[in-house]
Amino acid sequence: MSIWNLGSINADHFYRLDRLPEPGETLASKSFSTGLGGKGTNMSVAAARAAGRIHHIGAVGQDGIWARDRLMEYGVDTRFIDTVDAATGHAIILVADDGENSIVLHPGANAAIPDDLIGRALAEASPADILLMQNETNGQLTAARMAEALGLRLAYAAAPFEAEAVKATLDRIDLLILNEVEAAQLTDALGRSLADLNIADIVVTKGADGCAHLTAGTETNHPALKVTPVDTTGAGDTFTGYLIAGIDRGLPIAQAIGQATRAAALMVQREGTADVIPDLKEVQDMAL
Ligand code: ADP
Repeated sequence: MSIWNLGSINADHFYRLDRLPEPGETLASKSFSTGLGGKGTNMSVAAARAAGRIHHIGAVGQDGIWARDRLMEYGVDTRFIDTVDAATGHAIILVADDGENSIVLHPGANAAIPDDLIGRALAEASPADILLMQNETNGQLTAARMAEALGLRLAYAAAPFEAEAVKATLDRIDLLILNEVEAAQLTDALGRSLADLNIADIVVTKGADGCAHLTAGTETNHPALKVTPVDTTGAGDTFTGYLIAGIDRGLPIAQAIGQATRAAALMVQREGTADVIPDLKEVQDMAL
């Protein structure tokens, strides 16, 4: 079986400064680096590192061919990443010495994914494959409808939270993954508790407190590992990629959550995002 991830592809540009600039002020940065990012990309890399068969559906501009190549090097199928007439999605990330940050996100090509690309990709999917999506691209509803027609399972990591996007696909979701903030936003937007939703599995991640798994009227808590975090960026995406890959590889969901929890615990102890996601062997070998 395999995973089809309709997901964002970003160039993350990091600038380190003494402090953040005031409105109207120009400051020189002390350093600059570019990394591969975007929730969709992080999840595809995590799923590939977790030995999942992962096909990425997305778009870059002419300036993003390197990002597609990098995904391919990580073992992600990149045949369904189109080059479109837009800038590659990117984030300008200012990091001050005191750790404070300020981010400008330009969706670019991530918001210009052609509908026919989603159709071309999913034409190769098999029933019981998983369609994964987040909210950093266009095309969720189109993809969810196609997934339903083809008998795919739909996993939705509903971040960044957008009430309308989630509401429109709610009846089709098999696995919903949210952090605590997004879970509160969703229950507010719907006026219903998560347990009242007709979704087979819901996983709510709670940072250092681990996660809760809601299924068939029961809620099970899975504690996080006790570690000292260095940088929590990408922990949630790593968790999701590992969870989906585990399910796709046929693990019972509790076991897939266990692997995801361990992978995320390794991740919070590392600086960086896609390029430092641990592989399955590291996760299996980690001392508990
Ligand atoms: P997001 O980054 O999407 O907000 P969370 O902060 O809930 O997601 O983190 C996702 C998962 O990463 C958690 O369920 C947990 O397994 C792991 N994690 C996050 N922060 C820590 C931490 N400080 N210590 C150990 N594990 C963590």
